[in-house]
Amino acid sequence: MKIQVTRSSMSNFEEYIEEIKELWESHWLTNMGVKHKKLEKELLNYLDTPNITLFTNGHLALECTIEALNLAGEVITTPFTFASTTHAIVRNGLKPVFCDINLEDYTIDVDKLESLITEKTSAIIPVHVYGNICNFKEIERIAKKYKLKVIYDAAHTFGITIDDVSVANFGDASMFSFHATKVFNTIEGGAITYKDERLSKILDGIKNFGITESESVEYVAGNAKMNEFQAAMGICNLRHLDKEIEKRKVVVERYLERLNNVNGIKICKPQPGVKSNYAYFPVVFDGYKLNRDEVFERLKEKNIFARKYFYPLTNSFECYKGIFDIQKTPVAQYIADRILCLPLYADLDLNDVDRICDIILNS
Ligand SMILES: *Cc1c(COP(=O)(O)O)cnc(C)c1O
Repeated sequence: MKIQVTRSSMSNFEEYIEEIKELWESHWLTNMGVKHKKLEKELLNYLDTPNITLFTNGHLALECTIEALNLAGEVITTPFTFASTTHAIVRNGLKPVFCDINLEDYTIDVDKLESLITEKTSAIIPVHVYGNICNFKEIERIAKKYKLKVIYDAAHTFGITIDDVSVANFGDASMFSFHATKVFNTIEGGAITYKDERLSKILDGIKNFGITESESVEYVAGNAKMNEFQAAMGICNLRHLDKEIEKRKVVVERYLERLNNVNGIKICKPQPGVKSNYAYFPVVFDGYKLNRDEVFERLKEKNIFARKYFYPLTNSFECYKGIFDIQKTPVAQYIADRILCLPLYADLDLNDVDRICDIILNS
């Protein structure tokens, strides 16, 4: 049987049917209906944060937030991320400035950040990659000093806390993705959590054609609303999330048992005070008997599909060639060339984890 890098969590079928039943009575399918409102409330509670706005996906949540915060000029970010982060900056007419990552947790290297700030810099968009939390204290210090906005790409960090504080509360705003492949999914979906409650009205307008009242259109905007079926999926999945994360933890522990302390295989150390969501299991092959691409191929021959995530770096995308003067990011390049995310999902059988580790260790 094929093993993919991930497998979407789903509540049981009857539970979802029960949740969407009333939609057949109300005929209210989208535009901030009862399911949307209910999910919003539950997420505020789960993420322990004061403000949230839901979107049809994480990417548009980020694009709309960049717009809502009126950013201009240059935005500092990292290239070790999904295409979405950099595209959201560029699609808003802004220039991405690429900061390198650090070798420990692959988040933005705060020691290199300040030297990239110019008079045109308006914001920093760091990424909590794989659920590793950025050095948010140092980022906050720098942002304050230069009066920059901070939006976290928190797509990987749903439900994570550090010293009992939810990651949803860092910076000016944080974007979460509820895509099918993420720890918590609404099929497609996403949200922004934020500090300033005045953003709420602006984001609600931007995600709905700029309509702010029934006869008033204040912005030129598109459509990025979450529909009732997505929200209902979220309500169902949220009920089981803690259990799903527990199951992921068991899988991760088995991987660690087998792969930790193997020469040439590098695994991120857990960050102090962080309650993880066990979203990914990234492994760096550096000086191992097989290189990353060889491991990827050996697994593929056995119908096991790991993922070169993140590779390539966003600052090497064809679409940016010749458009920006692109900063070199040697550490990000080094990691992107050696990293592989191994299959990880709640129902991944421990025998399969052993099989994957056997292939890696005994090839
Ligand atoms: C998934 C993801 C996104 C985009 O989210 P969608 O909900 O798929 O639009 C953005 N950034 C990162 C790092 C992601 O992993």
